[in-house]
Amino acid sequence: MEKTFKVGNKEFVLDQDKAEEAFAAKQVINGRVTPAFNLLPLKYGWAYDLYRTMKANHWEPEDIPMGKDIEQWQSDRELSDAERWIIRMGIGYFSAAEGIVGDNVLHVIRELVTAPELKLVLGRHAHEENIHADSLLYMISSLGINPHECEAMFEQIPSILRKNEFVTRVSHELRRDMDMTDPANKKLFAKDIFVFGQCMEGTQFYGLFGMILSLYRQNKFPGIGQMFRYTLRDESNHIELLRNLFMDLVEENQEIWTKEFREELRATMAEAIELEKEFISDCLPVNSLGLSCDEFVRYIEYIADCRLEGVGLEPLNPGVENPFPWLAEMMDLKKEQNFFEGRVTEYQKSSSLESISDDEL
Ligand code: FE
Ligand code: MN
Repeated sequence: MEKTFKVGNKEFVLDQDKAEEAFAAKQVINGRVTPAFNLLPLKYGWAYDLYRTMKANHWEPEDIPMGKDIEQWQSDRELSDAERWIIRMGIGYFSAAEGIVGDNVLHVIRELVTAPELKLVLGRHAHEENIHADSLLYMISSLGINPHECEAMFEQIPSILRKNEFVTRVSHELRRDMDMTDPANKKLFAKDIFVFGQCMEGTQFYGLFGMILSLYRQNKFPGIGQMFRYTLRDESNHIELLRNLFMDLVEENQEIWTKEFREELRATMAEAIELEKEFISDCLPVNSLGLSCDEFVRYIEYIADCRLEGVGLEPLNPGVENPFPWLAEMMDLKKEQNFFEGRVTEYQKSSSLESISDDEL
């Protein structure tokens, strides 16, 4: 029997029986591995949709003007030491963190999943981490910060070292030939996806995001702030990607979803929060510019509970409220908000041109 599949505005005619066989053989892990990158028939439709959303959001660091940032950085009058320190911590931490995420996505997660559409979206995820790493290089060179100083930050500041050790601990265990039919290995893999998506990108990134966007709101570092807003929009897709992947992995391997494992994940998030509290107090050694350390800690607890609930886990601090409602607004960048200017709009158009329907133009 033949059947027509519609994907976007394209149509494909496929043999129904063979398609169903191929469809059934697709799994998050332990699925059929083919030498061809067979995206069709799509089983994980969310992965393909997300891939398209992600590429439509493409941006390039060099398109963002840094003139005002450079002027502020060089002026003695415009900035306090505390503000400069936030920028240094932001650049120092993310320079290391973006690479660690990209490496885990490419060499651990993308290696272990078997469905091609999952590999497709993970490839885009890794590429976006490259863009983020490149944006930090652009900030460092624009401001004239000594790159060795930056390296020293993630090698010598204990709270950054501990955050990095927390995430690489689980990913290192997965870098060998793994028998993915073993439930212990399945759990380890699920934990890796949870740690990177929900604990690191989903929670531990948000302390500094909040601080840098607070500065941006006060017209400090407009270029850096804008790059972080683009980065944040990308991160929200990464969190969603890894959340969906986690949920599908659990759905297909329900034997791992024990009470014990769920508690292990909640304890892991609790550890992530503790590390983030320590890090926040290093970023904000003094309360400055209306930024209080206590509020940021509460913010992290609030975000962490959103992430836990997003993957079907009980919150750690039920009832905690978001102390920064303005931040939620600023982070919630919708494509329709006409946020893009200049060349970035062109990327957006050319990259998604094929799919733009007449009413969108
Ligand atoms: Fe990133
Ligand atoms: Mn990311």
